[in-house]
Amino acid sequence: MQVYAFDETSPILAAQAYKGKNYYCPGCQGIVRLRKGDQRQPHFFHLKLTSSCRLAQKGLPHLQLQFFIKNLFNSAEMEVQFPSIGRIADVADMESKIIFEIQYSPMSLEEAKGRSADYERLGFRIVWILHDDTFNQKTLSPAEKFLRTKTCYFSNMDGSGKGILYDQHEEIRGRWRRVKSGPLPINLNGLQPVEKISLKHRLGWTLYCPGDLIDLSLQGKFALAKRSLKPLQWLKEAYLAWLYMLLAKSSK
Ligand SMILES: [Zn+2]
Repeated sequence: MQVYAFDETSPILAAQAYKGKNYYCPGCQGIVRLRKGDQRQPHFFHLKLTSSCRLAQKGLPHLQLQFFIKNLFNSAEMEVQFPSIGRIADVADMESKIIFEIQYSPMSLEEAKGRSADYERLGFRIVWILHDDTFNQKTLSPAEKFLRTKTCYFSNMDGSGKGILYDQHEEIRGRWRRVKSGPLPINLNGLQPVEKISLKHRLGWTLYCPGDLIDLSLQGKFALAKRSLKPLQWLKEAYLAWLYMLLAKSSK
């Protein structure tokens, strides 16, 4: 379901659009119209859908995040094409040369590394936004483990646009996220280059913003963030699994 389109050149949300009027898809530049009923959230549909439209394939939380981030920056655009590397950025701020990549579905390590390297080669810095539905779980995929060494935040934004962007303090060992703090809400609008950094697991971060762990650390509030670390439920689960294994063995 597509929730935003272009009215002439400015982005518009489906909730503010009119039925029967032509709007344009930021993904494929095709004509889209508003569909609205009692049962479903207002959304745009393609008059003629081309199979290559990226936006038509994206889920609502992804689209809401894309729209939210674009609106934080005056000079940001959505679905920006980079033909020289064959990529399309979710959101790009051409003025500050920052790319925002929203990741809702699982991805391979090769893809995460490739996308990062391609944009970096063009002189852009990437901010990764990983969605809670797939990421920030007890186990980490190799891609998530890699991305957390880059400027990377989480979001729990839902299909109606409710939710936040956040950072957290965490301890990762192997494939496990052993402990994590509660969410530290961030203000992405205040992104700035990292100059010097004392957090050893954030050495690969090139940008930081108000509210994140680097910001807290620079303000001397890192200890506070660390104190809010909570052992995860999995410790208990792992203990129970071990206990059951012992029980199973002893009953043989
Ligand atoms: Zn389209």
